[in-house]
Amino acid sequence: MTVTDLVSYEDALATYEPVMGLEVHVELGTKTKMFCGCSTALGADANTQTCPTCLGLPGSLPVVNAIGVESAIKIGLALNCSIAEWCRFARKNYFYPDMPKNFQTSQYDEPIAFDGYLDVQLEDGEVFRVEIERAHMEEDTGKSTHVGGATGRIHGASHSLLDYNRAGIPLIEIVTKPIKGAGERAPEVAKAYVAELRELIKALGVSEARMEMGQMRCDVNLSLMPKGSEKFGTRSETKNVNSLRSVERAARFEIQRHAAVLSSGGTIIQETRHFHEEDGSTTSGRVKEEAEDYRYFPEPDLVPVAPSREWVEELRKGLPELPRLRRNRLREEWGVSEHDMQSILNAGAVDLIVATTEAGADAAAARKWWMGELARRANEDGVDLDALPITPEQVARVAALVAEGSLNDKLARQTIEGVLAGEGTPDEVVEKRGLKVVSDEGALGKAVDEAIESNAAIADKIRGGKVAAAGALVGAVMKATRGQADAARVRELILEKLGVEG
Ligand code: ADP
Ligand code: MG
Ligand code: ZN
Repeated sequence: MTVTDLVSYEDALATYEPVMGLEVHVELGTKTKMFCGCSTALGADANTQTCPTCLGLPGSLPVVNAIGVESAIKIGLALNCSIAEWCRFARKNYFYPDMPKNFQTSQYDEPIAFDGYLDVQLEDGEVFRVEIERAHMEEDTGKSTHVGGATGRIHGASHSLLDYNRAGIPLIEIVTKPIKGAGERAPEVAKAYVAELRELIKALGVSEARMEMGQMRCDVNLSLMPKGSEKFGTRSETKNVNSLRSVERAARFEIQRHAAVLSSGGTIIQETRHFHEEDGSTTSGRVKEEAEDYRYFPEPDLVPVAPSREWVEELRKGLPELPRLRRNRLREEWGVSEHDMQSILNAGAVDLIVATTEAGADAAAARKWWMGELARRANEDGVDLDALPITPEQVARVAALVAEGSLNDKLARQTIEGVLAGEGTPDEVVEKRGLKVVSDEGALGKAVDEAIESNAAIADKIRGGKVAAAGALVGAVMKATRGQADAARVRELILEKLGVEG
């Protein structure tokens, strides 16, 4: 199916009600793997962080990582879940080369946390409750690299390389109950949910939850049912969507695709799908296994996990300020509206702005750059804000240069552009590109004199009290200095020279 075969979003929503299910995998930030002592550090040479247990060699025995369990409980509590008094791990059996044990140690019918909810706030301030079915513990697989093909996918590759360093890294999978009633806002709800969940995970300190690094990824299940119906349609499952923006786009695309198939009399097959960043489309993956295909059974090599109620209560007491409350506090400190705060959250900018203010910028300036120029760039490049190659400290430095009058807005934007292009720190970019504002009063004064001379009629109006006309002269001076003057200072000079009060 090509993009042209889609039904328009509006038409799809006029006929159908979307139902969504979001499965989010979070890689925990523990030092060691879930069932062995191997390091989880990134960037090591392939297969150097492995041992008999995570390679699934005969005779090896797994041991549960206590921090992994603690993190799972914290996540469960923060999601308002009940915490199991007793639960087991289960083997999920399937063959894939990146999984050396031929089963994944996971949890099946006994998750550590279940029946919770997460309230998410939409752009207009409305709160939507997403119900959580369960959060369970499992382990990551290794990583395959397909070599020799054009696309990096297995099709067309000549061979594949396997790196088991990631095999056994702890994952928490958080599964929602079917999300109904969001209507046309389903994609927005999906994005807001993942954004809120990411904030929560970061606040708990259990993972950095960097989506672009695969530390948090989302499977988007979606189906449509005719409006007024209660019977769910067949779902598709778009796998491993790894940015907030992509979550929203994937849901939107699937709504339009399902509607096209259904309204032309076709049937949706239950399958996994791949999302494509380039055009926001999805394509068919594999036909979905049923749970029975995995031959789940309780893991015989691990003892059950039975967290004492005292421990659970202790962890509950230790929960940090939750993101929604923290956001409310920051919102007041920054003096922004609910709506603006929501946009900041959805842009993934809360922590970036906080870090920028901690580096010395005032909140208004930090907000302005992250939500303006940088958000625009992230959007253009199709990446999350925190993936841009600029740090909060660098943004704070740009803000400081503006505050001290060395840069005006236009020059500051060019400085940021230079930093993003890899030309160095803000100071280096300013130096290399010669971006300092013309603050030499002599040169400025001359440019102002010239502007007054060649715009005599306007100058007369200003002398006569029409101060608003000064804008035209400011414009002329800015043009003459190729934008490298401080517009406020130019205006002052003009009024001074014409002998009127500002
Ligand atoms: P699987 O492992 O097969 O993907 P899960 O139960 O882990 O199954 O996840 C399925 C997700 O899809 C859950 O979030 C669930 O609420 C949701 N879901 C189930 N049925 C439907 C449906 N018909 N349409 C949309 N979402 C659904
Ligand atoms: Mg799934
Ligand atoms: Zn190991």
